[in-house]
Amino acid sequence: MIDLHNHTLASDGTYTPTEVIKMAKKNGVKIIAISDHDTVSGLEEGRRAAEQEGLTFINGVEFTTEYYGVEVHILGYFFDHENEEFVAKLKALREEREDRTKQMVENLKALNLNITYEDVLEEVTGKVISRMHIAKALMNKGLVYTKQEAFMNYIGTGRPAYVKSQILDPISATKMIKAAGGLVSIAHPKLIALDRKQLNDLLNELIPVGLDGIEAYYSSFSKADTEYYIKLAKERDMIVTGGSDFHGENRKHVKIGDVNVPNEVFEDMLKRLEENKNKIK
Ligand code: AMP
Ligand code: MN
Ligand code: MN
Ligand code: MN
Repeated sequence: MIDLHNHTLASDGTYTPTEVIKMAKKNGVKIIAISDHDTVSGLEEGRRAAEQEGLTFINGVEFTTEYYGVEVHILGYFFDHENEEFVAKLKALREEREDRTKQMVENLKALNLNITYEDVLEEVTGKVISRMHIAKALMNKGLVYTKQEAFMNYIGTGRPAYVKSQILDPISATKMIKAAGGLVSIAHPKLIALDRKQLNDLLNELIPVGLDGIEAYYSSFSKADTEYYIKLAKERDMIVTGGSDFHGENRKHVKIGDVNVPNEVFEDMLKRLEENKNKIK
């Protein structure tokens, strides 16, 4: 069994990388990737735990990007998470998020909400701070009853305390992963708010910069969805990837390994990596 899409406490999952690996083993998964949002901080622990449990471990990451106002998630695999340029870019993205959060906290203060940046930091489990943490802090301070209320009244897009994030675009994310020697796949294509023609346009932009694949196997995809994306990948000389998108208790209905990824997916990824290396030579 293979599962190449899993979140840990390093982003918005609820289990440590070690716990995720142990659960994967229990569920019969043999090949696993941890793919946290915009961070690689869970990979070393994950790799160590996988070695102990006898699982094959793949470095993963899921970048949040924006394409003409639409959220597109870009998966990276097999990259060198210590690549200098890659690490520097991740750091810049993280710092930009910290500055943005501080600005939103200032905006909230100006609205007479008694909250500090430190209150928000207390909610952060991983390395990447997001509006989710501001919402939790507002709740814990009794300033809102629900997270939804925090978004609706204050920090949702266009609301009074909202600050836009300088988000990556899919081309930059793809280049970042390729420069660190990785494979790039478009996450859960069916969940992207693009129609088939627009998705095709996105492929036309990403394939020339090195896009390798599409995530055709996904916990919520039907057989027909999967078949459609496999066909699309074949037509464009790409591979497919797959995973559950496990988030622990933050997405209770999804278990690790809740996806039927055939062995050839892994074999094709290895082949593609080799082909990419030969192309560079
Ligand atoms: P950020 O990356 O800082 O823009 O924050 C994104 C986080 O906020 C994600 O975890 C989203 O699930 C969450 N989020 C965004 N909008 C809403 C909303 N209206 N209600 C609840 N959560 C939201
Ligand atoms: Mn998530
Ligand atoms: Mn995603
Ligand atoms: Mn995900």
